[in-house]
Amino acid sequence: MAKIELSNIAHTYEPTVENPMYALKKLNMVWEEGGTYALLGPSGCGKTTMLNIISGLVRPSQGQVLFDGVNFTEYSTPARNIAQVFQFPVIYTLMTVEENLDFPLKCRRVPEKERKKRVREVAELLNLSDKLKRPARKLAADEKQLISLGRGLVRSDVSALLLDEPLTVIDPQLKFEIRRKLKTINERYGLTMVYVTHDQNEAMSFADTIVVMNNGEVVQAGTPQELYEKPETTYVGYFIGSPSMNFIKCHLDSGRLSTAGGSIPLPSSVSVPEDRKNLKLGVRPRFVSFADPGAQRALKGRTEMVQEFGNYRIATVRIEEDIVRLKLSPGAEIPADDAWISFPESKICLYANDVLVNGNR
Ligand code: ATP
Repeated sequence: MAKIELSNIAHTYEPTVENPMYALKKLNMVWEEGGTYALLGPSGCGKTTMLNIISGLVRPSQGQVLFDGVNFTEYSTPARNIAQVFQFPVIYTLMTVEENLDFPLKCRRVPEKERKKRVREVAELLNLSDKLKRPARKLAADEKQLISLGRGLVRSDVSALLLDEPLTVIDPQLKFEIRRKLKTINERYGLTMVYVTHDQNEAMSFADTIVVMNNGEVVQAGTPQELYEKPETTYVGYFIGSPSMNFIKCHLDSGRLSTAGGSIPLPSSVSVPEDRKNLKLGVRPRFVSFADPGAQRALKGRTEMVQEFGNYRIATVRIEEDIVRLKLSPGAEIPADDAWISFPESKICLYANDVLVNGNR
């Protein structure tokens, strides 16, 4: 296990081009020893590039990769002692499941007794115990991926376990179970784990820290709760949460936030922004509720749509150009036309030019 630092890292795949595109723009990032991290972002934002820079599969165009403070930038992948699991299974087809799991230990000359113990432990964890003697090629795709995962987990000496969308081919029921097991492994062995995904639910249920990326940049790193409650940009507010955060255009008027549906007082915790342009009030759907017509601190709109999801319902209210979604309990009443909505002051986030306003953190 190790603390891993990316110091002033940037990367382009077009080093000879005059004005190259940067897959990763200059950034600093620390992965603490024993932490569970998710790298979350849309396709092409640079997640895999970052993971491959940590493992040594990609040499960064700029900056340094430090393991426990030592510069490993020039070191090969094997010298970094990293286990990496990819999106699709990488297994030895001519070996049995047991031989596949044992192989990384055998290569490192781990004593046989210890090898047997580790293989048994990992097989049990991944529900592969009864398949140990079977040829790996005869297993289904999701079971083959479990072998890849097992090969990453079987070594106790790795600096970190890097997982690049490892559960894509796994059945949804099993996905949840495996994520839970990865958490158990982290607790038991204290492994530093970095898990790449574009699925926020996967990230939320796996990681202690989520690193949200966009367009080659880290836009916010924090706990699932921090990202949910205080997204630092409207991008994170949109990307995290289902439905995403609501944004209502507003401007400051005599200490109030004035919207197309009426005005509400500027929350006392928010300092008046210097930059008053392009202000948006952000609030999560589950903090919005319907209010009595004309109620104080309520905004007026019109109900546009109601969607049933069994254990909750989503009401969509339009306030001129803005759409506000409310996440309500199954039996909640929803006004048919004119609708007044309100939300607690403490749940309001204010954004200027799509960045959370100071004093709102
Ligand atoms: P995905 O979720 O689709 O795998 P990602 O977030 O992991 O995407 P990367 O694979 O790191 O993103 O890609 C970042 C950018 O770098 C993209 O524009 C991609 O096209 C480009 N890129 C990635 N690998 C290479 C490569 N080997 N050669 C050239 N360009 C590349």
